[in-house]
Amino acid sequence: MNEARDVKTGELIEAESLKYIYEEGLSEYECIDDSCKIKLIPSSYKPSNKNRPYFKSTKGVGHSDTCMFSEYLRMLEKGRKRELTAVELEDMPFPTKFEKAKKNEGGTITNTSDLGDDEQLSVSSTRRMASGEFVETINKSKVVASISSIVDFYIKCPFNRDVELEIEGKKQEYKYWFKRIEKPLSIGKYNGKKLFFGRLHMSEKNMVETSEKLEITLYECENWERKTRIRPSKQVNPFVVVIDKAAISKNKLSRIKSELNYAIEDKKIAFKNKDVDKKRHAFVFFYGEAPVKGTPYKFKLIDGALVARYAQIYPTEGKKTAM
Ligand SMILES: [Zn+2]
Repeated sequence: MNEARDVKTGELIEAESLKYIYEEGLSEYECIDDSCKIKLIPSSYKPSNKNRPYFKSTKGVGHSDTCMFSEYLRMLEKGRKRELTAVELEDMPFPTKFEKAKKNEGGTITNTSDLGDDEQLSVSSTRRMASGEFVETINKSKVVASISSIVDFYIKCPFNRDVELEIEGKKQEYKYWFKRIEKPLSIGKYNGKKLFFGRLHMSEKNMVETSEKLEITLYECENWERKTRIRPSKQVNPFVVVIDKAAISKNKLSRIKSELNYAIEDKKIAFKNKDVDKKRHAFVFFYGEAPVKGTPYKFKLIDGALVARYAQIYPTEGKKTAM
């Protein structure tokens, strides 16, 4: 699981932030669903761990039957194979709004743990609670402060990318927010602010850091110069994600680097285990601005909103039209 509740403070914690929490001392954690609350154990959170941090349940202890979280995971599995119905979606807390964590005037984050950068998640319960004849009104909004679960919903539910997502006051369907970087500029038509994604190189030399920025060169480029007998094939005008270091906290920057490494590491592990699927790649997803004149291949990251996944991206499936 990638989130849990801190038993002592009641705060929602994303597993990704465990690496920083670890430095200050871990707490006790439980499932975020009030009807479940099983104990969860933080795992893979030490700096030496190469894999993504996560929460696991104690051996032999399952989530309660009504646990919204495990139900959500079951729904994501279904969503991969078929279109989820309106009724199913109604009960499913998928993200409908991305909103960065609020900062106070001092520029520091209004969050006692000081980890609130993008780890906090505010969930309006979507669970239907039937108590006698009373059924709680369903609040369909789920506001997230990280793009992580937005990306997961996009990846896992190719049949339901017509649900709406709100970012910076703009509402549009998931499929219009996401834009894959893969085609030359003239065909790709990269415009405005989007959730862009593209493939990562496996080698670290494609990430160049200076005192001001971190630049990630993608596998995608305008074209390739064919290899010759004396020279390997070479990228011509590769697309680059530019991260302005002054615009984000140190924590966020190191989290971005870990994200990239997890996806690359996942791919390496798959290769090592001979579990290779040509359709799976290490992808970077980020909320960013499309290139502007003068720097036609450079995408600008907004608010440090970046995650990476080793995954297969299924094409968006159309709706079955009723006769
Ligand atoms: Zn649970």
